[in-house]
Amino acid sequence: MQRWSARIDPPWSLDAWRAAARQGLAATVAPEQIDWLEGTEASLLDAPALAGAATSGDSGAPARVSKAFLELATSVLCHRDPQRLPLLYRLLWRIAHGQREVLSNPADADVLRANALAQAVRRDSHKMKAFVRFRQVPGEDDAFIAWFEPDHHIVDRVAPFFARRFAGMRWAILTPSRSAYWDGSQLSAGPGAQRSDAPADDSREELWRTYYASIFNPARLNERMMRQEMPVKYWKHLPEATLLPRLVRDAGTRVEEMHAREALAPQRRIPEAPLLPSAAAARAAEALPDSLTAQRHRATACRRCALWEPATQTVFGEGPADARVMLIGEQPGDREDLSGRPFVGPAGQLLDRVLAEAGIDRTTLYLTNAVKHFRFQRRGKVRVHQRPDREHVQACRSWLAGEIEQVRPDTVVCLGATAASALLGAAFRFSEGRGQWHTLHDGTPALVTVHPSWVLRQGEGAAREAAHALLLADIRKLGAPPAV
Ligand code: SF4
Repeated sequence: MQRWSARIDPPWSLDAWRAAARQGLAATVAPEQIDWLEGTEASLLDAPALAGAATSGDSGAPARVSKAFLELATSVLCHRDPQRLPLLYRLLWRIAHGQREVLSNPADADVLRANALAQAVRRDSHKMKAFVRFRQVPGEDDAFIAWFEPDHHIVDRVAPFFARRFAGMRWAILTPSRSAYWDGSQLSAGPGAQRSDAPADDSREELWRTYYASIFNPARLNERMMRQEMPVKYWKHLPEATLLPRLVRDAGTRVEEMHAREALAPQRRIPEAPLLPSAAAARAAEALPDSLTAQRHRATACRRCALWEPATQTVFGEGPADARVMLIGEQPGDREDLSGRPFVGPAGQLLDRVLAEAGIDRTTLYLTNAVKHFRFQRRGKVRVHQRPDREHVQACRSWLAGEIEQVRPDTVVCLGATAASALLGAAFRFSEGRGQWHTLHDGTPALVTVHPSWVLRQGEGAAREAAHALLLADIRKLGAPPAV
């Protein structure tokens, strides 16, 4: 069997891979005939270059592939698995030889593997966005360097995100195999560096640690989730990581102290004034980059609409910052308003049951609401839920957009008409679009279903069971999101 070699340099380049793959198809070179090489890697087989293979006259028109395949290939190429190059060519070969729909079969072994590689790259990219910490270059006011150790070839893929986010400063992100530079107007890339090339610390880190310690809530500590969201291997990049062992160790004692203080405090169900962050912590939050944590903290002081005033506190979303699925409800209810956490009241408990029945672990999801303050009408001692107006949804939109921007979920679920119209536009007709997949403006698939509180409002008996079954059937569709 004649063998050929195809070199992909740089190893994550879609253009380089595409040129080789086109040549392979044009010359009718089967997948098992190609020895794929990365960068300057030497060939063990000494096979001639694929570029020299004669194209056959009967190879026909070049294979046309879908946008979904190109997007998949772009991600897969960034993985470090050397088998990704033959895997992609094998998929392309199958598409070109009669299996055009192969990508829509998620059980196919090649598709399964390619999706897993792409998912790992997306996760690594997300971690880089979340855990890069710039340090000021000594003696320079607006120059910053960060050190990071990604698992895959993602520097070129993620660098444009930092260029947009930190457009006003000069920065470099150094990694062992590749570095990215931004001079304020131009993005460029270069070879890898060493950790010692980046500054070890800077004066702003003390500010960040102070801020982090001030917002750390021991009552909300979930160590397993925290380690999922912030894996230990990234701690070496994070200034706040030095605080974590102490904060985690002392959490139990601090919660007991909080309970003791609560027992002494006068019993009042609804605080007259909302809880405000301290001025120092608010100033510190303003100085921080737009992480999810910083946004959550800024939202505590939001006054963009009138809902903040009678409510107890802002109820921001919660869940892993790299959650693949984001669930969006309408607004916090009475229990959420008092606890400061989304979906903990009766509707949240029903949602938990539905998720469990659908085999979905709630701790893997990011849960939030279109509106972050509880709107209610007081009737005696009871606070009765009132639906937010369009102006409230509009005012709160930037918080929701910030959460989506930070989490970048693969899919979004709109629970109820308010969430659906917040994301899909005021013209969206809930009764027609419920139970179906839609597409957000950035291409993210969005499933629309009923809010669990609607299920609760059906009372007991057959109507309630039917409503429960409808919500469950919709949530199960998360197992098969549409191909993007
Ligand atoms: S509801 Fe949203 S926009 Fe209105 S005050 Fe609260 S956080 Fe701000």
